[in-house]
Amino acid sequence: KFISFEGIDGAGKSTHIGFVADFLKAHGKTVVSSREPGGTAVGEKLRDMLLHDKMHLETEALLMFASRREHMAQVIEPALARGEWVISDRFTDASFAYQGGGRGLSRAKMEALEQWVHPHLQPVLTFLFDVPLDVARARLDATRTLDKFEQEQQDFFAACRNEYLRRAAQFPERIVVIDSTRSIEQTRAALSAVLQK
Ligand code: C5P
Repeated sequence: KFISFEGIDGAGKSTHIGFVADFLKAHGKTVVSSREPGGTAVGEKLRDMLLHDKMHLETEALLMFASRREHMAQVIEPALARGEWVISDRFTDASFAYQGGGRGLSRAKMEALEQWVHPHLQPVLTFLFDVPLDVARARLDATRTLDKFEQEQQDFFAACRNEYLRRAAQFPERIVVIDSTRSIEQTRAALSAVLQK
């Protein structure tokens, strides 16, 4: 089965991915952990460009989906075919949130890319880690230097967050919103409760 993790920068998703992987392994599953952009040799090269080079918005969207296509071919689809679990740090919801909501690429273009690249594949479950913007910013400032994306305006992150929440409302059976302002222990309890279902 395929699980994705989403949220704006600083929402705390990276803190919890390892916990979910360990939880599934403890329940006897074979787990492949991966990330986007990246997850493959080609994808990691694309990630390096995407995080550091200035480019046209549509180029950025296309490279995100190029990374995704390679990730599907090399990692996701083979693992699912073997009956394993795949947990990916970001998937297509991130493209809708960042290139769509944040940067303004039309939803129609995003949907066309999604239809082209993965007309049939969707995560069975997506954890959306959600925090107010001031909390996210405080966490980022505390932990590390900001990359190209993270330096951008708060209203950019607000637009990303809005699009994430809009998608959560659109796909309530797939996307579970995790209130990530709580303590790590409380968040883990919420994740366990969902995974046990
Ligand atoms: O998840 P992670 O923090 O590693 O993502 C790296 C960066 O790529 C983030 O700063 C995020 O803003 C950006 N990103 C993006 N569009 C995507 C996926 C990630 O702008 N579709």
